[in-house]
Amino acid sequence: MPELPEVEVIRRGLQNHLPGRKVLDIATGNKKLRLPMPRKNLKKYILGTRIKSVGRRAKFLLITMDNGACLVVHLGMTGRLGIFPPGTPRAKHDHLRLQLDDNMQLRFSDIRRFGFIHVLAPGSDFSNTMLANLGPEPLGRGFTPEYLKNSAAGKSRPLKNFLMDSRIVAGIGNIYACEILFHAGLNPGKKISSLSIKEWARVVDSSRHVLRKAIACGGTTISDFVNASGRSGYFQLELQTYGKQGRPCSCCSTPITKKTMAGRSTFFCPKCQK
Ligand SMILES: [Zn+2]
Repeated sequence: MPELPEVEVIRRGLQNHLPGRKVLDIATGNKKLRLPMPRKNLKKYILGTRIKSVGRRAKFLLITMDNGACLVVHLGMTGRLGIFPPGTPRAKHDHLRLQLDDNMQLRFSDIRRFGFIHVLAPGSDFSNTMLANLGPEPLGRGFTPEYLKNSAAGKSRPLKNFLMDSRIVAGIGNIYACEILFHAGLNPGKKISSLSIKEWARVVDSSRHVLRKAIACGGTTISDFVNASGRSGYFQLELQTYGKQGRPCSCCSTPITKKTMAGRSTFFCPKCQK
């Protein structure tokens, strides 16, 4: 499943190719995605416009057009977005193809169909959309120790569940929550009201460090972005805890422990993470 670093690497790849390109034609598949394909709005707001920029909010890709409309892409579990040269055979799981004016095609494919495409009309207010109620970006300015301490005040939730709550911080999934807390040396089950400002600072620093490292690792994996979605799988940072139960901690050799929290597998070192 693509996590924030993968979506960010895809965004950077698309940003190198898409701005300035005009959408000459749009083709959609018949299969149902998590949300219905917005065929009418694709035609009304995206067809014939030029791509201005490719942004990201949490795990949503936001392709903004020169008329102010925005094509929102969510990759779900198995979604892929790639730019293909002319003549590339169509895949069975292609759900959307944009014909661009440089003869290339932007294609969205998704085998398991948990992803979706959405169109925001020009001048849309995000507050009525799936982009509302998202907390700050973990790599953005609003993600500070003070913000986290204030948000956690008086609450007894476990730290890992808090970090995975998209209303608190956008886009941190299960794998990276485990890795971030290992790097921070904090136990995933720790009650959030008990963390000091110094410990929250460790959460912020570790989030940035782990996510940036993963983005850098993906940047080298998907260096040849054109056609990348047709060839390579999603990359993954070399993980320290996730999926490593029983294996020695890279720091102290204590076996990594696995437990279930909020229905999700959670991995940590019981010695290093207090
Ligand atoms: Zn350890």
